[in-house]
Amino acid sequence: MAQTQEKYDIVIVGAGPVGILLSLCMSRWGYKVKHIDNRPVPTATGRADGIQPRSTEILRNLGLKRQIMAYKPAKVYDVAFWDPLPGEQGIHRTGSWPSCPRFIDTRYPFTTLVHQGKIERVFLDEIEKAGTTVERPWTITGFKNDGLDETYPVEVQLKCLDTNVIQTVRSKYLFSGEGARSFVRQQLGIQIHHKDPISYVWGVMDGVVRTNFPDIETKCTIHSDAGSIMVIPREDNMVRLYVQIASSSDPDFNPRKTATAEEVQEVAKKILKPYWVEWDRVEWYSVYPIGQGISEKYTLDERVFMGGDACHTHSPKAGQGMNTAFHDALNMAWKLHAVESGLADRSILSTYETERKDIAETLLNFDAKYASLFSKRRPTAGEVGSASHATVASGGEEEDEFVKTFKSSCEFTSGYGVAYKPNIFNWDSSHPAKSSLFEVPGVRLAAGRAFTPSTVTRLADANFVHLEQEVPANGAFRIFIFAGKQEKTKKAITDLAANLEKERSFLSVYRRPDIADVSFFERHQPHSKLFTLCLVYAAQKNQVDMEAVPQILRDYHHHIYADDIPDVRVPNAKFAAHEKLGFDPEKGGVVVCRPDSHVACTVQLVEGSGTADALNAYFNAFSTKPLGQDQQQSRL
Ligand SMILES: Cc1cc2nc3c(=O)[nH]c(=O)nc-3n(C[C@H](O)[C@H](O)[C@H](O)COP(=O)(O)OP(=O)(O)OC[C@H]3O[C@@H](n4cnc5c(N)ncnc54)[C@H](O)[C@@H]3O)c2cc1C
Repeated sequence: MAQTQEKYDIVIVGAGPVGILLSLCMSRWGYKVKHIDNRPVPTATGRADGIQPRSTEILRNLGLKRQIMAYKPAKVYDVAFWDPLPGEQGIHRTGSWPSCPRFIDTRYPFTTLVHQGKIERVFLDEIEKAGTTVERPWTITGFKNDGLDETYPVEVQLKCLDTNVIQTVRSKYLFSGEGARSFVRQQLGIQIHHKDPISYVWGVMDGVVRTNFPDIETKCTIHSDAGSIMVIPREDNMVRLYVQIASSSDPDFNPRKTATAEEVQEVAKKILKPYWVEWDRVEWYSVYPIGQGISEKYTLDERVFMGGDACHTHSPKAGQGMNTAFHDALNMAWKLHAVESGLADRSILSTYETERKDIAETLLNFDAKYASLFSKRRPTAGEVGSASHATVASGGEEEDEFVKTFKSSCEFTSGYGVAYKPNIFNWDSSHPAKSSLFEVPGVRLAAGRAFTPSTVTRLADANFVHLEQEVPANGAFRIFIFAGKQEKTKKAITDLAANLEKERSFLSVYRRPDIADVSFFERHQPHSKLFTLCLVYAAQKNQVDMEAVPQILRDYHHHIYADDIPDVRVPNAKFAAHEKLGFDPEKGGVVVCRPDSHVACTVQLVEGSGTADALNAYFNAFSTKPLGQDQQQSRL
């Protein structure tokens, strides 16, 4: 008798950064996940280690930041530059700059340094709690999208490397997070395009050192007559040294070139002169070749996808590998959820490749520029100072090329430079949703960019809270209603609420089927699993008249806030969140954020049905069900 094949929503191959974040989201959001990795045990030490500011924000949104911070990671706020003195006198410090300058509005203006193994462990524990176990050591031996089962069109063959047992399963999706040597990518015949013919061999060493080098606890880029090194402070008194061992621009380049730990230590000792350094222990040492490559496609059929190093590789200089993998995974996760929950048309899955490949292209271009910035030109302390302290808004003086590059680089490496282009999710005037109310005049939020942080008082418990973190990463769109002054916007809010109650509103059409049984304690999704609404009044906390808040909005009682906390970035503002974002406190406005916290659109808050109509039109552009009153009327 033929055995019935097990069926999964998704098979994830690889438990590196991209695989684990995707697995966690899908498992938590209720999907049946088959997750395998070919290594018998998780990463123990080494590999990627830098969590950039925007990734820290994402990890907090996933509820993982505390566990990662419990490892007491090193935090890099500053980068120091060391250069050679003339006459073989050794190195000296020539300047420093913030790794995340002030013009980037983030709560975490630092890079968090803790090795990939510890980060993976935090994820693996949470994945387990969400009901999925990463099975090891299993590999993938074949797959095909044969469509024999309409719902589970992909057949995947897996093999246990311990027992040689073969298992064939069916799945809605297959995701390769296999790293640079992806079997899935090779099987699909997808080529890697090498941006730059240059490739490198790097030596990386994590260890505990004794030294009189004064900046050993600071990130440093050191150029000396004996070579270059990047110093990265680590958790547990460790330090990481990156040493470039070979480059394809060398006349005798060999990508298999290697070096022992002792050889790298000897080079490091020469580079650090006149300072001395000795190793107490080496925790991890690796030599690995890196080329700047990008996969020509991330999917062929929108059923079998890839992400992370399977799609892009580059130098480790800017610490982007793991971070880019995280962003890929989150982008993939919420889009799969949007389709599988019935909200969005399947065609939206094409935006995974367009959005993430565009960012990978930018990353590779940036990586090349960054490398030459370091090797060709060393900044002076004066340039560094002006770049560090200027603000984006300051305008005025013409900046030189280096300062401009520095600023855009910092923004990009922090993760806040990710700006998705206009598409079905990121509104601009070419979007199918048409309304004169899109784009609130004066608002400084750009569709496609991460939502700006602001601090407000939550009325339910008078806690000061970080508004951008109030909705956890639960796959839902976040709708922030900046309600302005209650006495001025009362009618507009009442009208918006009344229109949200209508049968064809996005909130009603995607109403939870179990709405009658929703727990009293449900904070985020009382009406729909796909949307969370937040209401922020330009008021002191005791001034908000809760009785006047329409019931449908009061159902989000943990998401009603007073904008009464000062913000140093807008020192003269009375209502800092409204004013920092550019909302007129007399008028308010609405921000729709995607489930990954990138801004989707802003809509003016007006009396009548206009605001709800615009929101319905926005969601209608990718909804599987017709939304809005126009559709209702045309069907009658
Ligand atoms: C040796 C090494 C050192 C590195 N050092 C640094 C560094 O110092 N700094 C830095 O920023 N980045 C470094 N990187 C890169 C960084 O680790 C990656 O950018 C990041 O991990 C990408 O995440 P990923 O999930 O895409 O892939 P990976 O982290 O590579 O994860 C892929 C996973 O898939 C598994 N796998 C592969 N093929 C299969 C298969 N067929 N079946 C089942 N499982 C499979 C692998 O075992 C692995 O667990 C290093 C990478 C390597 C390999």
